[in-house]
Amino acid sequence: MWNPISIDQYVKIHLRNNPNDDEKTLRMRIDAALDYYKNGIKCRCGKDIWIVGSATAPFGCLTCIKNNSDDWEDDILCNMNRSAQADEKEFKCGAYEKL
Ligand SMILES: [Zn+2]
Repeated sequence: MWNPISIDQYVKIHLRNNPNDDEKTLRMRIDAALDYYKNGIKCRCGKDIWIVGSATAPFGCLTCIKNNSDDWEDDILCNMNRSAQADEKEFKCGAYEKL
């Protein structure tokens, strides 16, 4: 397991490693992943989602994010959608089909 870090710490580290990433978008993704987690939404395999990993990958648990590269193309579309809809309350993306 890893040591828990605060979102602020994570954002700082992530932005240091990925200087081209947008802080607002990153925080929005973390918030969205946290919302999923708080609402009891699980990974497609049934495990808890991995919040930090879900900030930069399709929402899922640690194992699925590491192992699953099939949906990356869809996720890129999703990320583009997400950025375009950054100021809207609800995020819509056709690539995120409910299971
Ligand atoms: Zn999973």
